[in-house]
Amino acid sequence: MELSGTEVWLSKAAEPYVQHVLPALLLLTLADLWWLATGRSLHLAEQFSVYVTSGVTLLQMLVLSLTTPVHDGYVNSGPYWTLAMSCVLAWLFFPVRQALWLSLLLTSFCLFTPWLVAGPYALNNPVSLLRVQLSCVILLLLIYALTWYRSTHDAQEKQKWLLYELAFRDSLTSLHNRRAMYPAIEALLASQGGAILLIDLDHFKQVNDHYGHGTGDEVLVTLAQILEQCEAEPAAPAPTVGRWGGEEFVVVLPGTATVARLSERAELLRAALHAAQWPQGMSITASVGACLVTPQDTLSSLMTRVDQALYHAKAAGRDQAVLAEHLSGPTA
Ligand code: GH3
Ligand code: MG
Ligand code: MG
Repeated sequence: MELSGTEVWLSKAAEPYVQHVLPALLLLTLADLWWLATGRSLHLAEQFSVYVTSGVTLLQMLVLSLTTPVHDGYVNSGPYWTLAMSCVLAWLFFPVRQALWLSLLLTSFCLFTPWLVAGPYALNNPVSLLRVQLSCVILLLLIYALTWYRSTHDAQEKQKWLLYELAFRDSLTSLHNRRAMYPAIEALLASQGGAILLIDLDHFKQVNDHYGHGTGDEVLVTLAQILEQCEAEPAAPAPTVGRWGGEEFVVVLPGTATVARLSERAELLRAALHAAQWPQGMSITASVGACLVTPQDTLSSLMTRVDQALYHAKAAGRDQAVLAEHLSGPTA
């Protein structure tokens, strides 16, 4: 007698996978949702999910191998779905080594149990079962390969980032270090116009002597934070700020193209530093050397001129902003 579509569906729906496994997975999902909605540990919810789905996989495989009611030509692939799910969850939420062991154990169990038990599940339609197992193994291999590649790729990226940070960032202020400033200065030299500022704290040694090195460090961090607020000129790239060494800092200012504008910016910065709130309510000032880039400049000539300007600011009594252009005559 031929069965109607609904009858076929109902006969399949009555199988153990639908009767027991689906409700178990639904329960797991609801339990996880309740757990998370009540503000509990996500980590525990993840671990719980992996262990429950692994348990469901093992149990399902065992029950199926021992007791399968045979449907004509129909191999129940249910345990292999939950196997794949358990492995994916393990790779997502567990450390690599633990995930590897758990998924190897689960996979071996699911591959060998039907054949070792040799019940109707394996023997009724071995070719079909082999096909299901093969699909599952290929799928898992793909997942393992991608996960392995992702973890090594992530580790390499982290390593690269760490090396970059060590090579190009100042660990105290998190600003660019001198090495990282060279490309910014070279870019300025190659650009249509711009300027550079060299800032040096006044009598900083005394800060260390009176307040200790730790407070001195705090002052340097505060200075870095103030310098980072330097604004870009209209339609020009943002300034680049770096620690040149010790208590000397550099600001590369693209687009600051005239003596008048540079004079204004250098003076504004000096005044801002003078008025800033420094650690422990200290009164701290800084001297600023400033210099416009000329087409003839090299990195060395530019740094020499801005250094001379800074030297003059110190010699003039400190807490001064001096332009190199004012030393060698106006050029704007
Ligand atoms: P001047 O006004 O002439 O610039 O005087 P100064 O005391 O600021 O300059 P000097 O070159 O005599 O001293 C610089 C001091 O900066 C000495 C050094 O110990 C201190 N210094 C350099 N790097 C650091 C650092 O990373 N942390 C701290 N706390 N101090 C530093
Ligand atoms: Mg100084
Ligand atoms: Mg100095």
